[in-house]
Order: sequence, then C-alpha cells, then structure tokens
Amino acid sequence: MSTLRAELIATARRMTAAGLNRGTAGNLSVRERDGFLITPTGMDYDVLTPSDIVFMHLDGSHEGRRKPSSEWRIHRDIYAARADAGAVLHAHAPFATSLACLRREIPPFHYMIARFGGTTVRCADYATFGTQPLSDAALAAMADRSACLLANHGMLVCGRDLKQAFDLGVELECLCEQYWRACQIGEPVLLDADEMQVVLEKFAGYGQQD
Ligand code: 13P
Ligand code: ZN
Repeated sequence: MSTLRAELIATARRMTAAGLNRGTAGNLSVRERDGFLITPTGMDYDVLTPSDIVFMHLDGSHEGRRKPSSEWRIHRDIYAARADAGAVLHAHAPFATSLACLRREIPPFHYMIARFGGTTVRCADYATFGTQPLSDAALAAMADRSACLLANHGMLVCGRDLKQAFDLGVELECLCEQYWRACQIGEPVLLDADEMQVVLEKFAGYGQQD
C-alpha cells in the first residue's frame, strides 16, 4: 500500500487534532499519478485504513471499496485546472466557518493574508454541498489564490503537497480567529495596496528556499 495513502490519513488526523475539523466534516486529497487520492465520504478519520482511501481519475471515475468524499468535484476541478496544486484541504474550521456564514472576505488586516497569494481571502458564492455549482464558485474565488471561504460552509485550501496544504489551513484558521477577535473590539486598520504589494514580493523569496 502506498506511503502516500498513509501520509493522507496522518494529515487528515492532524486536521482533527489541530481543531480544523470535528466529526466527519471536511475532506482531504493528494495528487497521485494521473489522478488523486481522497478521503472516503462520511467516515471518521481515526478508523481509516489505507484501503479506505479512494483513488480518483480526473474524469470523475473512482477505484476502491469506498465512495469518495461528496466534494470530489472541487478536488478534481482544482487538480485539473492548477498544475501547482498537489494537495487540497477542506474543513469546517470554527472561525473560518463563522466568517463564511457572514459571507465576508478576509481583508488585509494582517500582512499574513499575502501568504494566500493576494490582498484578500475571498468568500465563494453559496451553493449546495457536493455540487458542481459549489465547485465552480470555489474555483472562481480561488483564482490566483491558494485559499477561499465557502459561504455558509467552511474553508478550502490548496498547497503543493500535504504538508503545505495543512500548514496553510492552520494559518487561515489562525487569521480568521485574529480577525474575529479584532472585530470584537473595533474596526481593524487595513494595510493599503502598496504595502500588500511589498509583502507579496517579500513572500516570493521568503523561507528556506534553497
Ligand atoms: P464528506 O464526508 O463527503 O467528505 O463531506 C464532508 C463535507 O465537509 C461536505 O462538504
Ligand atoms: Zn464541507
């Protein structure tokens, strides 16, 4: 059984441990060969074994003994549209979901918003879970970004691999909590477009690049 399946299960369990998910909400996938591996629908991550993980082709067909996540269209459409995406994470994380229920984008109240590729993290239009209209709305909101909120639903993040998708998911939930807290005591002061441009350029060379 591939180590990628084990890595997918371990990262899914970390989502729960980090407070990004409770129960069977959320889903996770990783690109493999000409398709991707995805968590099965409606199963607790702590009981998953490698053979519960579903392999999907980009045409939407799947292999394995379980049914794929109901949100497989979002995962499939991201892999098909974005060569840079190696893993996709969806969660009903409490602070991100609270803001998504207000259908509010996250403005540049903190420079770390630029980690997601732009000056805001957008909120996708509402559509029913597990549908093509939801996937279409999510991809539009993620244009040139690595995350978005899903109205009245949760968060969506993509990364080059499982580790980066998980790290960005934790970072987004952290920013949503900070924004929510700041809004409790006043109106956050936003960074202007020039400053966000400086930060976006700095992020291009940030971290242990070599
Ligand atoms: P699945 O269990 O089908 O992945 O659904 C969870 C979810 O978050 C739907 O949006
Ligand atoms: Zn969901």
